[in-house]
Order: sequence, then C-alpha cells, then structure tokens
Amino acid sequence: MYEENFHLTSKLNPYKQGEPSLNVFDAVIIGAGFSGMYMLYRLLKLKLNVIVLEEASDVGGTWYWNRYPGAQCDGESIEYSYSFSEELEQEWEWTHRYSTQPQILEYANHVADRFNLRKHINFNTRVTSAQYNDKLKNWKIKANTDTYIAHYCIMATGSISSPNKPNFKGLDSFQGQWYLTGRWPKNEVDFIGKRVGIIGTGSSAVQAIPVIAQQAKHLTVFQRTANYSLPAHNRLLGKEEIKSVKANYSTIRAKARNNRGGAAGTVVGNKSALEVTAKEREGAFEIQWNEGGLGITSVFNDILADKKANITAANFVKSKIHQMVGDPITAELLSPKNIIGCKRVCVDTDYYITYNRNNVDLIDINVDPIETIIPNGIKTSHNIFDLDIIVFAIGYDALTGALLAIDIRGKDNKSLKEKWTHGPRTYLGLSSEGFPNMFTITGPGSPSVLTNMMTSIEQHVDWIAECIKFLNQSGKMEFEASIEAENKWVQHVEEIAQGTLRYSCNSWYLGSNVPGKPRVFIPYAGGVPTYAEKCYTIAQNGYQGFVIT
Ligand SMILES: Cc1cc2nc3c(=O)[nH]c(=O)nc-3n(C[C@H](O)[C@H](O)[C@H](O)COP(=O)(O)OP(=O)(O)OC[C@H]3O[C@@H](n4cnc5c(N)ncnc54)[C@H](O)[C@@H]3O)c2cc1C
Repeated sequence: MYEENFHLTSKLNPYKQGEPSLNVFDAVIIGAGFSGMYMLYRLLKLKLNVIVLEEASDVGGTWYWNRYPGAQCDGESIEYSYSFSEELEQEWEWTHRYSTQPQILEYANHVADRFNLRKHINFNTRVTSAQYNDKLKNWKIKANTDTYIAHYCIMATGSISSPNKPNFKGLDSFQGQWYLTGRWPKNEVDFIGKRVGIIGTGSSAVQAIPVIAQQAKHLTVFQRTANYSLPAHNRLLGKEEIKSVKANYSTIRAKARNNRGGAAGTVVGNKSALEVTAKEREGAFEIQWNEGGLGITSVFNDILADKKANITAANFVKSKIHQMVGDPITAELLSPKNIIGCKRVCVDTDYYITYNRNNVDLIDINVDPIETIIPNGIKTSHNIFDLDIIVFAIGYDALTGALLAIDIRGKDNKSLKEKWTHGPRTYLGLSSEGFPNMFTITGPGSPSVLTNMMTSIEQHVDWIAECIKFLNQSGKMEFEASIEAENKWVQHVEEIAQGTLRYSCNSWYLGSNVPGKPRVFIPYAGGVPTYAEKCYTIAQNGYQGFVIT
C-alpha cells in the first residue's frame, strides 16, 4: 500500500547535485522511541532517504531510559503495542496484563530488528539545533559534530523524555550514590542493606517505592504532593486470553481508536455519578477497584467534568488509602488534597501497604522542607537523614522540554523557544507556523499523554506519512501551518481544557512542575476520536489551514 517510489533527495537538495552524500536526506527524524521507529518504517515504505538521530545508544525511548526498579506500563500490554503490522501482532506474545520495562524494551528491539530499522538510525547522536533555510526549503540539523540536511524534519523527541534535573543545594558534596529515575543506569543498582532516600511521589516513585523498600535497609520517602494511585492487579495473561486477543486484534484496535483515551479496555460510563444512589455508586467504584487499572475516573461520565461527581470518586480512593495504611497520620498524608484526575493518576502494585513496613518512613516536605544535601544524606529544616543512596523521582519538563532543548529556528531565523514563551502554539499539535516542513509527533496541542500513547503515535505518524506522500506527489516544496488556523487551534485547545477540571490543580499537564514555565494546559483534552476525525477531515479538504507552496 505504501510502496510508491519517490526519490526526493536529488530533486530537492541542491547540496547533493547528483552525488551521494551521507548527510543529505529527504527526512531526518529525531528520536528512536516508538514514534521515531514507526515514522521511519512509514517513510522507508515511501522509499525516502531517511535517517533517525537518537541520543541513546539504542532504540526504545522512554523504555530505554526508565530502567528504575518497578518500571512498568500503566496501559494494558495488549493495547500498548503497535497495530500497523498484523504479523507483528501475531508473533509477539505479551506475558502480563501490564508489561514491565524490560519486556517493553525487548519489544522495541524486536521491532527494530524485524523491520530492519537499525541501519537507518544513528545512535549516541544528540541533536542540538535545527535551522530552516528559507531559500532552499530545507533544514540544517546539527548533532554532535555532524550536520545533516533534510527537506523534512520530524520531531519524535517524546512527550515525557526530558527529565527535570536535581537542582538541590549541596548535591555535589554527597558521598553516596544518586540516581534519576528517567536516566537510570543499565547496570542493576544494589539497594540491599542500604539507607535509601527517594524524592518525589509521582508515577515513577509510586512504582519504585514498593520494590526498593523490599531490598533497602531503610527507605525514606520525601513527599511534596500526594498523588492518587490505583491498584494494577497485574497478572499473567492466560493462553486462551492471548489466543482470543490475537483472533480479535482488529476489533480491539478499532475500539481503541473510537475511545476517548485511545484504549479499547476503558469503558466510559453513560451515567452521572450524581444520578445514582450512594450504594450503587460505591458498588461501581468497588468493581472497578477490584478490576484494577485507571478505570475509576471513567466509571461515570462526569468525574473529570463535575467537581461534586469527582469528589465521590476521590473520597472512595481516600477511604481505600485509610483502609490499607495502618497509621492514620501516614494515611492522611498519603491522601491527595486535589481532585482525582487533575494530575496523572498512578497505577501501582502494593504502593500504599508499603508504608506499613517498619523500614519505610514518609516525610512531608511541606512541613519539613529539604534545605540541602549534605555529604552523608539530606538535611531538612528539622532533621538530618543519613543516606547511602538518593533516588530523584522528580518528573519531567513534559510535552515541550525535549523540543525546546533543541535550538529550533524557522523562517527568518525565528526561534521556537521565543515563539512559545507564553506557551506552545501549534496547529493540531503537528505543526507550528513559521516552521515549515517540520512535524511534531504527539506534539503540544494533540491528545498525546491523555491517551494510550500507542494509538496517538500511530495516528500522528500515519497522518504525517500521508501528508508527505501528498506533498511529494504534488511536487510541493513547503508545508506550513497558517497563523489563523494555529490561533484558532490554540484557542480551541484552551476552551476544551477549561471545560474539564484539569485547571484546578498544579500538574505537569500545565507545566506547573517546572519553575517559570507558563501555566497553559498543553495537551488536547477532546479525546482521540474527535481529534482524529478533525485531522482526517482537514487532510481530505486539501490540508485546510496549511499553506502549501
Ligand atoms: C515512566 C514512564 C511511564 C510511561 N507509561 C506509559 C503508559 O503506561 N502508557 C502510555 O501510553 N504512555 C506511557 N508513557 C509515555 C511514553 O513516553 C510513551 O508511551 C511513548 O513511549 C513515547 O514514545 P516516543 O517515541 O514518542 O517518545 P520517547 O519514548 O520519549 O522517545 C523519544 C526519544 O527521542 C530521543 N531524543 C529526545 N531529544 C533528542 C535530541 N535532541 N537528540 C536526539 N535524540 C533525542 C530520546 O533520547 C528518546 O529516545 C510513559 C512515560 C514514562 C516516562
């Protein structure tokens, strides 16, 4: 289906002048996670001359970097996988309901090998700048000591790939070892017999804490904000279950694409939490709690839209926390104060009960703030904690961090960073005015992190590949979002978010975890089907809102 033979390079790159040049490409893709790999696959099918530039030494993106203990997927394995190849679906076998990081990384490696992708990827190659040439209509991309020229520059740099740096006073003086969850080393970290401190209680910490607690002599958890976490109830997938999934993959995928969150398994209730009796409501929450996973926020249709409805779900989870945690003061400290679903809800295995262990302490850093790191541990306002290891689980500069870490300059040398000073501005999350022939996969203003990312990645990559195919067939040189379409889209993204409860707390969706980042709701909260339909219609209507020359 995608076998058309284009050879853009000789046509569009005057640098080449008929001679092969290693660094001149039709397209450069930045990032070799699931987005970059699938984009590469699609562009190779179009017979384009493509290279992927990747900072890491191998494929996998998120699953390459996040090797911390307990790292696993919050989405079900069956859904958190590519749908583009039936053969791949049939030959790959997931073992668990929720896959662990090693297995997802193995899957990424399998995909790279199976589709012969590796030879098109330059590893250990960090891109530092990308500059558009108005005259030649191409991008000059600098990485390490090399320069690449490409007609298209495709950002597959990841939504949650730029970890926050631990800017703690005194860190240099620490004589133990310290680790960042989002940049975990390849070799196993030995916690046995060690006094460990972990800073942060977001998703990565929630996964790591129960595992570290089992090994460490003592674990001190430093918490700023309590987060909601729901039990995974992870389990092995049965042979019959796998057989049935394999026989029904196409139905499962179609359901996922029709689901707001891009996951077939997420059943969205059709009633308000407030229109049923308290008993009915509790019963529905209980069923979902026992089922495991993120479903509680979608048991009723207004939990993320109506504060009163939200409180019913929030109170249910808080009552569970109090049931699980023996010490009522710790239970209260672990009970979130914001609404449920405002911040990313976590999925865990034994998170809350870990606080019943004798070797685990919880410190509220709002009451006892961290003052400095000292050679033998952490000094707070009221205490000194002697530590051998510090784990920083302090989150990401999400959604824009990886993009803005690159000095991207578009038409007239315009800087993307300057353009986005007051928040990201894109059309559909795919393109930004002034930056022609550049695409962002799951960029700001698209559903991305509010969904099963595999569904959103594939939808974006397919759209971009079809767009490039169209441009090449029609011999067009430049593709750029119009300022009018972009302004309207930015306003639409904002309006949709305002209709939810997402603005009611400080979350990384709003950039609140990064000092100085503008408070703007970054992803598109309108759901996958509505969004995908808009993208499709725009393309069908001759790429409405884009200027094509
Ligand atoms: C701990 C964790 C758990 C997650 N769990 C889930 C989940 O349960 N379900 C879900 O749907 N999503 C989850 N996500 C989101 C996850 O990021 C996506 O599902 C998916 O892996 C994104 O793929 P990607 O290729 O777009 O980005 P990434 O996997 O982030 O890959 C981006 C790649 O770009 C590279 N890169 C970035 N900048 C540069 C540069 N300047 N030069 C060269 N290379 C660069 C990076 O090194 C990286 O390899 C999770 C994320 C994290 C961090």
